[in-house]
Amino acid sequence: MRTHYSIKINQGMDGEEVKLAGWVHEIRDLGNLKFLVLRDREGFIQITAKKGETDEKVLRLIDSLSKESVIEVKGRVKKNEKAPRGIEIFPVEIHILSKADSPLPLDVTQKVDADMDTRLNNRFMDVRKPHISAIFRIRSRIIKAGREFLLGENFIEITSPKIIASASEGGTDVFPISYFNREAFLAQSPQLYKQMMMSTGLDRVFEIATYFRAEEHDTRRHLNEVSAFDLEMAFIRDEEDVMNVLEGLVLAMIKEASLCERELSVLKQEIEVPKKPIKRLNYEHVLELLAREGKEIPWGEDLDTESEKLLGEIMRDQGEDIYFIKGYPTDAKPFYTMPKDEKHSRAFDLGYKGVEISSGGQRIHDYNLLAERLEFHNIERENFTFYLKSFRYGMPPHGGFGLGIDRLMMQLLGVSIREVVLFPRDRHRLTP
Ligand code: ATP
Ligand code: MG
Repeated sequence: MRTHYSIKINQGMDGEEVKLAGWVHEIRDLGNLKFLVLRDREGFIQITAKKGETDEKVLRLIDSLSKESVIEVKGRVKKNEKAPRGIEIFPVEIHILSKADSPLPLDVTQKVDADMDTRLNNRFMDVRKPHISAIFRIRSRIIKAGREFLLGENFIEITSPKIIASASEGGTDVFPISYFNREAFLAQSPQLYKQMMMSTGLDRVFEIATYFRAEEHDTRRHLNEVSAFDLEMAFIRDEEDVMNVLEGLVLAMIKEASLCERELSVLKQEIEVPKKPIKRLNYEHVLELLAREGKEIPWGEDLDTESEKLLGEIMRDQGEDIYFIKGYPTDAKPFYTMPKDEKHSRAFDLGYKGVEISSGGQRIHDYNLLAERLEFHNIERENFTFYLKSFRYGMPPHGGFGLGIDRLMMQLLGVSIREVVLFPRDRHRLTP
């Protein structure tokens, strides 16, 4: 329908005939002069109609337009230093493709602020705002960068089932669903499946996965449906091999975000790309750092929200936005976690500006040890028979991680997780 997006029109095209299509962002009627601002995916352009010069039919149609209606415009490009970007369109024909009702549920021009609930209830209109759509363009770019990085590192992209028979991470935070006459669950992660892949010979796999988590959180960093880069790799020496891949992946994604110039300028943001190598802190060292600031965490416990944030501040003062925490206590981590010694494991977390964005580690590949750990965690072995079986007939040493895309996005832009997910799912929100 269009020959150009608005942004492609420039002064050099003076006199050319073009076709544009998009939404009526604003209408200004000065009697003899009528201005329309047309908005499309890439930007805005002014359409100027004049009594006496513009066709009567076109003038009448402009009078009948409502804001946010979708129109198609055929017109001539005109240089005009007074118009935005020094150009305007002289309309020859305008067609209404879809008329918008009024009043509008949300003000796209942002003269009126809306609260988050109103915005999410009208997300289809919220995303029409350039600084909101910029978020999802950046998101698309970092996902592309992540995928390309991993394919470049010889990983194979897989798809694992989301309807499963037992909780993949253990625990109770699963959504039960009815599967014909049986109970099933929505997958908390591809954990069991990507580990089974390690015994197939496909060595290195990843998935851009959806996690379903029935956690009753009410925070700015938790949702019940999450997107993540989920990865597993075999023939590793230890967790450091996995951390190296995560380091490469996350830095490639942040770098790509930093290159989204137009989007970042709309958002009035800059993104600093952390330098390699990412600091690798031991769990004990982290406890010390926190204790020095007056925050005592008993050995063996996971960091709570407050200490994660405090650690972010401590690291920021040392010039580090992003950092690994490794050597976690084994019992604080899931059943599949490889122990390093009596108390410590080969599990790690990745923190970014005070929020965990990834967890991973080396996994247990020994059948007997795995069975033992299931028992330790009070997880019924019967539910895991299909998984355990893959450890009995040749399972190489392996490890992996899950990197939350929503979490990474929110930390990149310093916003709530609800800002970076199109249609977020939380305890109170199931629509739209
Ligand atoms: P947290 O302790 O921060 O709630 P987790 O340790 O339960 O997260 P993992 O099972 O380690 O989460 O999942 C791997 C990654 O997936 C996390 O580091 C995070 O980036 C993302 N993630 C997991 N659960 C959520 C959630 N409910 N909301 C948003 N992101 C999540
Ligand atoms: Mg975690």
